Amino acid sequence: MNRLVPITLKQHGLRHTEAREEVLDLFYNKNFALSHGGLENELQERFDRVTIYRTLKTFLDKGIIHKVLDDEGTVKYAMCRSDCQAEDHEHHHDHVHFKCLGCGQTTCLDEVRIPALDLPEGYKRQEINLLVQGTCPACKS
Ligand SMILES: [Zn+2]
Ligand SMILES: [Zn+2]
Ligand SMILES: [Zn+2]
Repeated sequence: MNRLVPITLKQHGLRHTEAREEVLDLFYNKNFALSHGGLENELQERFDRVTIYRTLKTFLDKGIIHKVLDDEGTVKYAMCRSDCQAEDHEHHHDHVHFKCLGCGQTTCLDEVRIPALDLPEGYKRQEINLLVQGTCPACKS
């Protein structure tokens, strides 16, 4: 298990459960976003759907992971990095997500920021999602 798993759970005041440890470990070991179905496959039915759903919900609420919208409308999840907390101390994800059409994996491009958008009067931004599709370095050749 990744050594950061117990540290992260502790930091967020979460009790250690097998499901939390294993799901979090998967996020540390994969550097691409995972869907609910993908997680189920990886965990090989060691936990039921509801347990996985609840674990994801807890991690979302705590700001350990964030949602990544895919082109097919599938929701995937990716680890939050320290830069989720921007200067304004609000937790948001103003980075671009990249979906590779070759391997089908979606990754966070944390260093590629989404430029500020001027919304019309009366509209308040909550979440922003920008998906770029193309070819990743591994599939390039
Ligand atoms: Zn985040
Ligand atoms: Zn690829
Ligand atoms: Zn992301």
